[in-house]
Amino acid sequence: MLRTDASGLSAEEAGHRLETCGPNRLPAGPPRGVLRRFLLQFHDLLIYVLLTAGLIAAAIGHGPDSLVIFAVVLINAVIGFIQEGRAERALDAIRAMIDPQSSVVRDGHRATIRADEVVPGDIVLLEAGDRVPADLRLIKARNLRIDEAVLTGESVPVDKSIRPVAGDVTLGDRFSMAFSGTFVAAGQGAGVAVATGAQTELGRISSLIGAVERIATPLVRQMGQFARQITITVLGLSTLVFAYAVLIRSYRLEDAFMTVVGLAVAAIPEGLPAVMTITLAVGVQRMARRNAIIRRLPAVETLGSVSVICSDKTGTLTRNEMTVSAIRTADREIEVDGAGYRPEGSFRIGGRRALDPAADPVLEELSLAALLCNDAHLEERGEEWTVNGDPMEGALVTLAIKAGHDAAAARTGFVRLDEIPFDSRHRYMATLNARNGRPPVVYAKGAPERILAMCSRVASFDGEQSLDTADWHDRIQAMGDAGQRVIALAHRPMRHGTREIAPADVEHDLILLGLVGLIDPPRPEAIAAVAECRAAGIRVKMITGDHAATARAVALQLGLADAPKCVTGQDLDNAGEAGIRRHAREATVFARTSPEQKLRLVEALQADGSTVAMTGDGVNDAPALKRADVGVAMGCKGTEAAKEASDMVLADDNFASIVSAVREGRTVYDNLTKVIAWTLPTNGGEAFTIVLAILFGLALPVTPVQILWINMVTAVALGLTLAFEPTEPGAMQRPARPPGERILSRRLLWRILFVSVLMVAGTFGIYAWAVSRGLSVETARTMAVNTLVVMEIFYLFSVRYVHGTSLTWQGVLGTRAVLIGVATVVAAQFAFTYLPPMHLIFGSRAVSFTDGMMIVAIGVALLFVVEAEKRIVASFNRVTGGRRSEERP
Ligand code: ADP
Ligand code: MG
Repeated sequence: MLRTDASGLSAEEAGHRLETCGPNRLPAGPPRGVLRRFLLQFHDLLIYVLLTAGLIAAAIGHGPDSLVIFAVVLINAVIGFIQEGRAERALDAIRAMIDPQSSVVRDGHRATIRADEVVPGDIVLLEAGDRVPADLRLIKARNLRIDEAVLTGESVPVDKSIRPVAGDVTLGDRFSMAFSGTFVAAGQGAGVAVATGAQTELGRISSLIGAVERIATPLVRQMGQFARQITITVLGLSTLVFAYAVLIRSYRLEDAFMTVVGLAVAAIPEGLPAVMTITLAVGVQRMARRNAIIRRLPAVETLGSVSVICSDKTGTLTRNEMTVSAIRTADREIEVDGAGYRPEGSFRIGGRRALDPAADPVLEELSLAALLCNDAHLEERGEEWTVNGDPMEGALVTLAIKAGHDAAAARTGFVRLDEIPFDSRHRYMATLNARNGRPPVVYAKGAPERILAMCSRVASFDGEQSLDTADWHDRIQAMGDAGQRVIALAHRPMRHGTREIAPADVEHDLILLGLVGLIDPPRPEAIAAVAECRAAGIRVKMITGDHAATARAVALQLGLADAPKCVTGQDLDNAGEAGIRRHAREATVFARTSPEQKLRLVEALQADGSTVAMTGDGVNDAPALKRADVGVAMGCKGTEAAKEASDMVLADDNFASIVSAVREGRTVYDNLTKVIAWTLPTNGGEAFTIVLAILFGLALPVTPVQILWINMVTAVALGLTLAFEPTEPGAMQRPARPPGERILSRRLLWRILFVSVLMVAGTFGIYAWAVSRGLSVETARTMAVNTLVVMEIFYLFSVRYVHGTSLTWQGVLGTRAVLIGVATVVAAQFAFTYLPPMHLIFGSRAVSFTDGMMIVAIGVALLFVVEAEKRIVASFNRVTGGRRSEERP
């Protein structure tokens, strides 16, 4: 019915079907309309308060005031709307970078395509870790087990087969089907796509996946809640102030009302949640630019407090560009020349004597085993040779060709009858290959101790010999000490007519062919990143399935520790609960570990109080990735199951990208702190100025409508610039932030209070000074408004450096965002002070040049006072060894 066969659809036919059947995606809900999105900006307690105030102001005849209130609301909404739209688009684009892929057969060849291009009739290939891309009728199932929890809720993977089932059984019993959205837990299989997109079972049950994930992380939620608390407190306080003003100070009702509106607007940090959201979005974008793609937003914050990174070795810390450099057979130690995958190079023994591979039957059979027990292909692209498949297997193909085999001819000549795929739990792979007229042969390759344990004899010039296991273990150790990844190869002729193999058939009586040593140099950027981690107080632990000696040698090359302590998976299994925790704390290298042990390591490290980032790629890594504080999946070689379980995906599989993400994570947290540290004191300064004036029955140094103006101009133009602050120097030279630290630390609360007081003092001071010199109240107020704004500007420069002084050349220059923000505000203040229409609306007056200089001087003074406070607290902390959390602003 689907007009397809074992060689799959043609690319052309697939293109046709994609057009008629549509892409293999669940239909998205309608995007949120532009108007709706805009109107949502007004859906906020504070905005309702403001709008009500605006309406009342208009009703009691304060036309200009109400206009200014509406302008504040509108500007806030427009900026929120634009920034939020940009952030959402950026996040969508980032999410699209990790679209799932699928393997299918097209035109008779295996091809990797995007999962949403799968069409009915496609032959889809499945292996452990894959996400099933469409509903499939299975046509091949080898030990295939599928986790169907998403569909049926059943958490135990289901065994699949190709035998038909009755037509009326429930979903969970359709063993001959694989369903879209489920995960392959083990084995291999293939199936014909019978339904895609909305036609799949998943499409039928899932309601539209319309809602876009809104940016909400623990910190943003915490601050949003805090902003609401402030709003309510301020409303309560305003009522009190209103009553006090009318009853005790006998203000006129409408004056009291406008004053209280000014107070409310001044005190409520309306821009804060939006600016924090934008700060996070900027962080996510910066991480994506450094190849770290965030899947779950809270990870952005967690990254900043990571104190241990557990990383895979192969491909993450090393380049995963392997080359066979040594071979050990029973008779010979052979060196192999050549670099990379280019299949050119010669064999030597004893340093210089050339060896003709054709004259060494053991080498010949060993390289044939390396070629047949192998799924990789070499490709020549111009000058470059690359691997399609596992790099280690690619290196073995290169070896076989160097030894004189014709890869394509050998693989068609010795047909593969059956196979046991590689699994990081049993650490070997075996194939059963037919030989013309002779009994079929099992070829096995894998971790050397593992293969050695399966062998009873060893091949040599004079036929088979008995195996001296201790001797071979010494050889393995020696190759590992040299930093080589060691693989053992073995074979065994089977009885005539054997067509299938199971682990029980191959795990005994094999004949060892020899050992192969591969070199896989460390990534240079990983070496630098490891050093950066050590400076930043982040411990890096290498977790690998590789041999202890190899892993240790690589750890030394990477500089993970001066004398890296190495523990094996077996040691972990033998250690008790306390033992595991000690190992987890002290060891740097974990060799021959299984995915289950990874999970136990994460748990042990967390129990010890660490915040753990853990990498993973295989289907069995999913539990450890989920458990880690930041689960990191590999974008290139990772399985879909690992990506699905992760918080972050590395587009380049590179350890250095994790460290970049941590650096950005620290930056984001710092910037959020800066946003808060700037916003709250400026609100506090404005609000306390009004409260004080009313309390003591003084003339208001700043009128309500002027407060509205200041808020409108500075909240966004200045506060938003902090979202774009670059990483502070030294961000990676301090220890990781303790997890769960409150962002509103005592230190930060003190700073808010301290700066609020300074701002009130500056405002009242200049006002009193101006009045005492006989200037008009209007001029004095204009000077007070300008002073407040100038203080906010100078304070902004101080806040830009949380941990160090701002009084540096770089600190003075600022960033582009800061300069644009400041220029905007300065222009606005000049307009406010010197344009006649502004005089009409805000009651402002022109200010003389010398008075202007005085205003700037007050700003400079504020900067120096705050900087001095920074320094005093810092040296005080040094003396008392103050708690680290107290060192934050
Ligand atoms: P890692 O990626 O951490 O180095 P793996 O779990 O991938 O470790 O591999 C563990 C061991 O299994 C390797 O050291 C190697 O000896 C063996 N191995 C890896 N890949 C293959 C393969 N494709 N075929 C056979 N053996 C393999
Ligand atoms: Mg591996």
